Amino acid sequence: MKHYQARRSILVELLRSVLLIYFAGVLLLTGLYVVQVYQHTKKDISNELKVIANAFKNDLKQTLNAPDNQQLSEIGNKILALPVVVSVLIVDANGNSLFAQGKDVGLSDTQLFSRELVITRQFADDTIRLATVRLYSDSGVILNRLKFGFALIFLLGIIKIFLLCALLVWAVKKIFIKPLNKLAKDIELINLGNLSKSRIDLHIQEENELKAIEAIGNQMLRKLDLAKEEWLQIENNYQRILEKEVSERTHELELSNKQLNTLAATDPLTHIRNRRSFFDIAEKYYSIAARTKEPLSVMMIDIDYFKSVNDKYGHAVGDEVLKEFANVTKRQLRDSDLFARYGGEEFVIVLPNTGIEGAEKLADKIRQTIANHYLVTEKGEIQITISIGVSALNKQDTSLDDILSRADKALYRAKENGRNRIETMAA
Ligand code: GH3
Ligand code: MG
Ligand code: MG
Repeated sequence: MKHYQARRSILVELLRSVLLIYFAGVLLLTGLYVVQVYQHTKKDISNELKVIANAFKNDLKQTLNAPDNQQLSEIGNKILALPVVVSVLIVDANGNSLFAQGKDVGLSDTQLFSRELVITRQFADDTIRLATVRLYSDSGVILNRLKFGFALIFLLGIIKIFLLCALLVWAVKKIFIKPLNKLAKDIELINLGNLSKSRIDLHIQEENELKAIEAIGNQMLRKLDLAKEEWLQIENNYQRILEKEVSERTHELELSNKQLNTLAATDPLTHIRNRRSFFDIAEKYYSIAARTKEPLSVMMIDIDYFKSVNDKYGHAVGDEVLKEFANVTKRQLRDSDLFARYGGEEFVIVLPNTGIEGAEKLADKIRQTIANHYLVTEKGEIQITISIGVSALNKQDTSLDDILSRADKALYRAKENGRNRIETMAA
């Protein structure tokens, strides 16, 4: 999974704006401070000029009393040699220059500033002005004095900015960027298939805004999980309803299919199997018996003189007789015996696991039961007889037809031999 990368970090944005303002502020304050220190130092130096002038006052007074240019020059140069002084100007009471050395004192140099000392002599009550001494200094002197301080201020400023930068980066990364990146990662890792296990953990203890986002995020995940569960429940219910409906429909279909099959396999009058269904099942019985070498017998039954029943009582009664015959005969049989209407008033019975003797016994029992049975109709009591041809599976048989045709022949013989009897054709 590819993690989303911020194109421009908040950290860079923050550093840009904070540092720009901080830098401008510091620059302004430092500027003001520098100007103030400059002015202060200028005042200090100006005072120093005065102190220097006073220190040389007596020497100058003596030299000026008995004018000695050489000595004046010496004193002037001595003063000039002091680092604070850049120019010395001494003029007499008439304004004539006695000593002028150093930087261009005549020019109006804005860098220059000076202190003046008037040297006088007390004569009786008069104060006679001997000369005026002017000591100059300039900004170069001030800056020279302050250069170490200013360099320190500048260096400290740089160090402070770097320190601030480092602190900001560290703090923002720890407090902000790291949890934010973790948030983005956790959101990306949310597994919709396993919402209950998905959680946002920003690894922060403080109850701050990020912690609130973490809590809201986890709350949202829980809600999503609940919604998903609910949706799954609805889907499950729907699925169950659908499955139930399908299974009901299938069951109904199976049922009607079964009914249809039964209907298709049943003779509508006697409700026993019809000819077609008989052959379906009889063929299976034959195959099993032929393979397993188990005995299998067949009875072919025909009602005697049935035409005359119809003629005497009518076709409807004839139908009743057929039904009654089927019911009475069915009661003599086992569930596994196959009983069917072969056609008209002809019936067939296949007896699995039954040899020829057993078949003969059963045939005779059926014959007797029918012969002794009276059917009560509105046209009086009717009694019928049946003839039965019996046969059984032989080693030589190759199909069901072989057995059926022997049973048929036996039946024919039973008719020939007087009816209401059974005949067997074993081979
Ligand atoms: P026998 O078998 O003893 O030789 O004499 P039979 O009178 O029974 O002989 P036949 O086979 O000639 O007659 C069968 C009669 O059965 C003919 C037919 O009208 C009648 N029959 C066939 N099917 C039905 C049916 O479904 N209902 C009724 N009522 N009669 C039927
Ligand atoms: Mg017949
Ligand atoms: Mg008949």
